[in-house]
Amino acid sequence: MTRVLVVEDEPQLVRALRINLRARGYEVDAAPDGRAALDLAARHRPDVVLLDLGLPDLDGTEVIRGLRGWLSVPIIVLSARDASADKVRALDEGADDYVTKPFGMDELLARLRAAVRRAAPAEEAAVVRTDAFTVDLAAKKAVRDGADVRLTPTEWHVLEVLVRNAGRLVGQRQLLREVWGPSYEKETNYLRVYLAQLRRKLEPDPARPRHLITEPGMGYRFEP
Ligand code: CA
Repeated sequence: MTRVLVVEDEPQLVRALRINLRARGYEVDAAPDGRAALDLAARHRPDVVLLDLGLPDLDGTEVIRGLRGWLSVPIIVLSARDASADKVRALDEGADDYVTKPFGMDELLARLRAAVRRAAPAEEAAVVRTDAFTVDLAAKKAVRDGADVRLTPTEWHVLEVLVRNAGRLVGQRQLLREVWGPSYEKETNYLRVYLAQLRRKLEPDPARPRHLITEPGMGYRFEP
């Protein structure tokens, strides 16, 4: 059984989450604040954490830091719409994904399933197909309409990081760090340029990308 730790101080939301998660076979622990969350996580090791960033005692990012020292399970942040700086900090601290409040229960459950699936040790697919193009991670190439797409090494690297995190938000800083290195974490214009190039080469309609998605102010997501 998958054990979910819900860290949230709004009783009504906790109640709704508990009912919906239990109905789908999850085991649920709930903590109303950060300290209770750290304590509960240590006693009942969760498989996934749903974490509100606005808690009465600790800041949600402090909870992430406290958990990340010893716990590698997915952490999905629940956060208000206007708090994008907080979301970025949460991702930098090691959160895996975020859902903006108010959210639909179906969306949250889909994100939760995806996070748990990704965390399960599985053979990594070497070839990822979309309806428009195919990415072969082992052969390091992309194919569109039966022909190899010519990508520069940097374009390939950006694409590779996104594809290896398929379905998952990759934060701007994380992407810059992985492709260009730690001293380039603020060069978000690089990302705009390279994503535009990748879309021109891969997306059927680059102005309306369906696979290389921008999450404004946050990062990018590859949707197969
Ligand atoms: Ca709150």
